[in-house]
Amino acid sequence: MIIIDGSEGEGGGQVLRTSASLSLITGEPFQITNIRGKREKTGMMRQHVTALEAVCAISESVCEGLAVGASEITFRPGKTKAGNYKFAVGTAGSTNLVLQTVLPPLLYADTASHITLEGGTHNMLAPPFDFIERSFLPIINRMGPKVSARLVRHGFYPRGGGKIEIDIDPAPLKRMDCIDRGELRSVIGTAMFTGLPQEVAEREVKAARKVLQWDEDVIGVRQLPEDQGPGNILLLEAEYEHVTEVVGGFGKLGLKAERLAKTAANRMKGYMESDAFAGPYLADQLLLPFALAGGGSFTTVKPSQHARTGADIIERFTGRKFEFDQQENGVFMVSSG
Ligand code: ATP
Repeated sequence: MIIIDGSEGEGGGQVLRTSASLSLITGEPFQITNIRGKREKTGMMRQHVTALEAVCAISESVCEGLAVGASEITFRPGKTKAGNYKFAVGTAGSTNLVLQTVLPPLLYADTASHITLEGGTHNMLAPPFDFIERSFLPIINRMGPKVSARLVRHGFYPRGGGKIEIDIDPAPLKRMDCIDRGELRSVIGTAMFTGLPQEVAEREVKAARKVLQWDEDVIGVRQLPEDQGPGNILLLEAEYEHVTEVVGGFGKLGLKAERLAKTAANRMKGYMESDAFAGPYLADQLLLPFALAGGGSFTTVKPSQHARTGADIIERFTGRKFEFDQQENGVFMVSSG
């Protein structure tokens, strides 16, 4: 049994999700104490409980102590079964974080799966659907499996009600070296909004253009149906030959449109000015599949504490260690094996 102190490192919810995915794949049970020990409100939140419930549903695993607010659980993994699953993530909990948890084990199942997820599709502090579809999944697909994702309805906090569908055709992950992102092919941006004045989205476009200096018609506004909101996100996308970076700026009450857009645009600018293959979130999310593939390497911008904590958990379950080495051009090489 692997014993994890959930307050170590970054001390957030990712430790739980990564542990549950890896427990199913490796067959190692685990116990975690001090769950989300470094967060202001410690213990499991609804979205973490749902992710663990989803893992149990695809595998007949047993999770003792699973409840909102719980600070300790014991997880005994069962065998992952492919199938047709539907999970509703409360009102606006992130569908994409639940997907992040059940996808790795389903990539190692015997046959194909179809998953329907309901809840939030564009949540703060979680990958927006567009990031999953255009940044993360293309890399997974290059590693062997065939995974396709479809957005049926947008879901924003606090209303939720979004829906995504995923088809997973499993295959063992092959190792890759992702050092060079290749030539820039295109850039595009969209300020999506519903239930608020169009003028807000137009101000976001203007502020983002000012930072990025992208051509006039490259960033547009898109109004979603009223019943999918209220909601607002600015999505900025840079497609390179070998990878696409998607940066999301999430609208929320009290956050000025210009401020949101400037922050998102500066993040995109920082990425584009670097030579890195993976942005900070993609780097986080590539560690687990790369470990399962038996190693590999990728370049990224400065690794976050989040990524380093993820790497520690992965090492506990798989014995596979990642090195983070800064290169002469400033980017970090993340490698294993
Ligand atoms: P906690 O509330 O404890 O911080 P959590 O479970 O909500 O926990 P994290 O542990 O911070 O969240 O994990 C969030 C996950 O979402 C990480 O995999 C991170 O890479 C991803 N993520 C967050 N924001 C973005 C974003 N803007 N784009 C892409 N991925 C994101």
